[in-house]
Amino acid sequence: MYKIGNQIGQETVHNPASVHPVTSPLTGQVIGEVSYADPAMIDRAIAKAREAQRQWAQLTYKKRSEVLFAMRQQLQTHEDELAQIITQENGKSLAESRAAVAKAIELCEFAVSIPALIAGKTEIVSTGIEVKEMTFPVGVLACVTPFNFPMMVPMWTIPNALVCGNAVILKPSEATPVTAMKIAELFAQAGLPDGLLSVVNGEKEVVEALCDHPGIDALTFVGSTPVAKLVYKRATSNLKRCLAMGGAKNHILVTDEVNPEIVAKEITSAAYGMSGQRCMAASVVLAIGHCGAVIDQIIAISKQMVAGRDCPPLISRKAVEKIGQYLDQTPGTVVVDGRRAMVEGDPNGYYIGPSVILYDTMEAMPEEEVFGPTLEIIQVATLEEAIAYQNRSPYGNGASIFTDTGLYAQEASLGLSSGMLGINIGVPVPRDPFSFGGLKGSKFGYGDITGYGSLPLLTTTRKVTTKWNPKDKKDWLS
Ligand code: NAD
Repeated sequence: MYKIGNQIGQETVHNPASVHPVTSPLTGQVIGEVSYADPAMIDRAIAKAREAQRQWAQLTYKKRSEVLFAMRQQLQTHEDELAQIITQENGKSLAESRAAVAKAIELCEFAVSIPALIAGKTEIVSTGIEVKEMTFPVGVLACVTPFNFPMMVPMWTIPNALVCGNAVILKPSEATPVTAMKIAELFAQAGLPDGLLSVVNGEKEVVEALCDHPGIDALTFVGSTPVAKLVYKRATSNLKRCLAMGGAKNHILVTDEVNPEIVAKEITSAAYGMSGQRCMAASVVLAIGHCGAVIDQIIAISKQMVAGRDCPPLISRKAVEKIGQYLDQTPGTVVVDGRRAMVEGDPNGYYIGPSVILYDTMEAMPEEEVFGPTLEIIQVATLEEAIAYQNRSPYGNGASIFTDTGLYAQEASLGLSSGMLGINIGVPVPRDPFSFGGLKGSKFGYGDITGYGSLPLLTTTRKVTTKWNPKDKKDWLS
């Protein structure tokens, strides 16, 4: 049984007044407890962060990045243990959990390259006058994260923020506090000075306290769109920097020239991997022209899939019920019904199988994100129609096209309104150093959450103007 407290710097502090169970989606069993931070704990974590950050900011980028070299090693050494924890508290497969640790390693590798990317600019802008641009940390960042990537999403922000000279207060999802605690433990073992990383547990109240606290300079948020909007509005109304990543409903365009077997396999894997609990999961297929063979294949593969074996559990019983209600109420035709899925493994886990829903028009499909193993399919006549449908979606995280024609690929990449685009790829997640970030209701704020696009959020710039006396001691204007 895990007993998770709050990590105020490197001190673990429990709060007996606010203890909550941690449940494994695999079995529905309680696997531990987490105590939430009270306002005094949040104050202490922030005070400690501010103190530690002042010292940390004095070091060079190169010196600060040494901790990330060591963290990379810690992640490699503890890969198995971390993967087990992620699977136990989140429910995803061990292979997915291992991939999350591998991604965290890649994120550390990007962070250690920041010293090479960040060097400022110097230019002689007028006779005898030089302007030099330098970067400095923002200060103390809060990092609020969702349940679906308990390792990767905190590691989107923490390594880059630290190398840029900031301190971080992590507020993980209340559903996955164990991985967060392990991340803090490994950073301490990697030699991160006390106070630069704290973990405060809790829900809405803790996030609101971070948005309002004068000791927090900036926030990164990753979660659903309604909450991203609230957090973005609250943090920016307190004049803090904020980047808030929201939910998604990702469109996959398919042309009728593709190989149905290969493409249906790719689309179903993009839709049902992690049971659709990815912000980049394939959600809607826009089948262009005569795509009957692709649709038939998608339906055939979906029918063969088994909950438990092919689809891991959802995060909670509530999430299973929500998808059940979506299927009950959809105006579309449910041709594969995950509610009747066979469950291999533990029947008390939060399982649901894949579902496929067919719609006659885009207008008939609800706009909301489903966030489960559900694929919605609409047939359209032309590429232009498909692009117009995708453009009307309130979300803009990912979109892909499957096609053998370069011209269609080009038209789609110019016309689709999403931050991340795929050509013949179901989950078009850019790898570092390229940045992760959507558009429209999938992201509020400027910049991106990873890669070089994250650096403007994590740093401030100062422009230093210098006038040198000319050799003959005359004024430069004379
Ligand atoms: P969520 O919005 O319910 O919670 C995210 C975080 O916000 C959690 O830490 C939670 O405690 C906190 N929170 C919840 N309600 C709040 C409120 N009213 N005020 C302040 N804070 C609150 O999201 P989730 O269910 O944990 O995660 C799934 C969602 O995250 C999906 O919508 C998914 O698309 C999205 N997501 C987006 C990205 C992206 O990069 N765009 C990446 C991963 C997940």
